[in-house]
Amino acid sequence: MKKNNKFNELTKEEERVIIDGGTEMAFVGEFVDKKEVGDYLCKRCDAVLFESTAKFDSGTGWPSFDAAIENSVKYIKDVGSIEVRCANCDAHLGHVFYNESMTGKNARY
Ligand SMILES: [Zn+2]
Repeated sequence: MKKNNKFNELTKEEERVIIDGGTEMAFVGEFVDKKEVGDYLCKRCDAVLFESTAKFDSGTGWPSFDAAIENSVKYIKDVGSIEVRCANCDAHLGHVFYNESMTGKNARY
């Protein structure tokens, strides 16, 4: 993985989510319904986190993936769930949920 210590500038709302671990409102994100082929990058440091082949429509209103690129994310035990952060810059990415039977990999990031 490419290491990058130069961070992108974030809007106040992006900071609230990415730095402070807030939650983006459901169904408002620009990537919710995106189906184009490509990589999904960390908004803060541009590390490659997810491939579009792992993206699926979870109906939750948030972009969902059933796998992260190996070693691109780290997992932090939260109350009742597991928080996912960028392994490079520590940006909050959301949570991962298992055993929902939404895809064969049985995981939802
Ligand atoms: Zn990052």
